[in-house]
Amino acid sequence: MADKNVLVLGGGIAGLSAARKLADFDIGVQLIEKSAFLGGHGIQFSCKATDKCVKCGACVVEETLENVVRHPKINVLLNTQTQKITRSDGQFSVTLQKNPAYIDPEKCTGCGLCFEKCPAHGAISRGFSKSNLPFYAISEKNCLFMKDKSCSLCQDTCPEEAITLDQKRTDHVCETDAIIVATGFEAFNPESKPYGYNVFDNVITSLELERTLRQESIVSRPSDNKPPEKIAFIQCVGSRDAKLGHLWCSKICCGSSLRMAKLIRSRQPETEMAFFYMDVQTFGKDFQVFYETVQDDIRMIRAIPGDIFRTETDRLRMAFLDNSTHEILEEIFDLVVLSVGITPGKDTKELADQLHLAVSDSGFLSPSENGIFTAGTALGPMSIAETISNAGNAVWETLKYLRI
Ligand SMILES: Cc1cc2nc3c(=O)[nH]c(=O)nc-3n(C[C@H](O)[C@H](O)[C@H](O)COP(=O)(O)OP(=O)(O)OC[C@H]3O[C@@H](n4cnc5c(N)ncnc54)[C@H](O)[C@@H]3O)c2cc1C
Repeated sequence: MADKNVLVLGGGIAGLSAARKLADFDIGVQLIEKSAFLGGHGIQFSCKATDKCVKCGACVVEETLENVVRHPKINVLLNTQTQKITRSDGQFSVTLQKNPAYIDPEKCTGCGLCFEKCPAHGAISRGFSKSNLPFYAISEKNCLFMKDKSCSLCQDTCPEEAITLDQKRTDHVCETDAIIVATGFEAFNPESKPYGYNVFDNVITSLELERTLRQESIVSRPSDNKPPEKIAFIQCVGSRDAKLGHLWCSKICCGSSLRMAKLIRSRQPETEMAFFYMDVQTFGKDFQVFYETVQDDIRMIRAIPGDIFRTETDRLRMAFLDNSTHEILEEIFDLVVLSVGITPGKDTKELADQLHLAVSDSGFLSPSENGIFTAGTALGPMSIAETISNAGNAVWETLKYLRI
């Protein structure tokens, strides 16, 4: 049993929990993550407990990540993607391309001097978990050294000499007995919707709000850093949308946005909150009880707003059809949060071709077997709890396949 190896593609909660479960069976795991940080989307979420836990699942991602990075049977490769996969005699041979990390995790102490000193916006990003080492990452796209070698301030000022900008990509080949594909999803980009995303500063996505709540205690308006007096949440942005061909419900958006709204009300009690929805999806065994309690704090409006306009005083005006009176109503808000849905990952098709996997009509991966297994939201919308359970199934199938 001890000499079996599995390659897990994707370091979100699906990949993390699959890796952890396999390693607990004494199986060697190579955990491949294409970005600079482990944890996928879930590590960017804040705990949303107010007076008690609301079971959002954020803490489970942090806990699993901590266990994975400490596990002696798991080797994590960040900034890495598969190039080519071949199979012979039941063994997979996988060519991996590793982009340089530029920051040495052994030397970086997470002091943040590189982040403070960097003059190029977005060239150095900060992780969300201190268990992710290094805690900072350099973006090739925005770094001035990568562009024209005009700046090396981070390298010059790092007190630990942990940064080496002049590094090259490396390829290497690894052999594995099975593969679990846990490459997750892409949050819908709402630029095509009439809500002014990326036009008005104070229209943000639910994912951006998750990140803000994780990193700051108070929510403020991006345009002036003032706390908003009125916030509107618009649900089903990119889900249940026939025009886009996205007929699926993303399942998690109602729960996630209502929990965030409740958290903001508990921290900023003077904030008025309105929730524009089609139907509230009360998935999860405790959610119905939570939903009943939030309705005292949050105005629920069954309508999907039309276009959003910026007022002269930098507020946001939106119109919507009142469901009971059938009148068109207008209301002004300070911040609008678009609840963006779960869509297939950008490189799903390419990856599916590489691994000879099928893709469903909706563009997510179809379940697979015979040595290559699939887990988590790469298959379609799931909550963190469902993802963990689905990853457990993929591990179970893998163990059966490896005859363990
Ligand atoms: C706005 C928003 C809020 C949410 N809030 C909640 C909530 O409160 N509670 C809840 O239960 N769920 C919530 N969810 C759902 C939750 O995000 C998912 O259940 C969870 O992230 C799924 O994990 P995953 O590992 O399948 O995918 P991901 O989190 O997407 O992780 C996939 C990982 O794979 C990596 N990857 C992708 N392609 C490759 C490749 N080719 N090679 C290597 N690595 C690759 C990615 O970089 C990423 O790290 C929310 C979702 C959204 C959009």
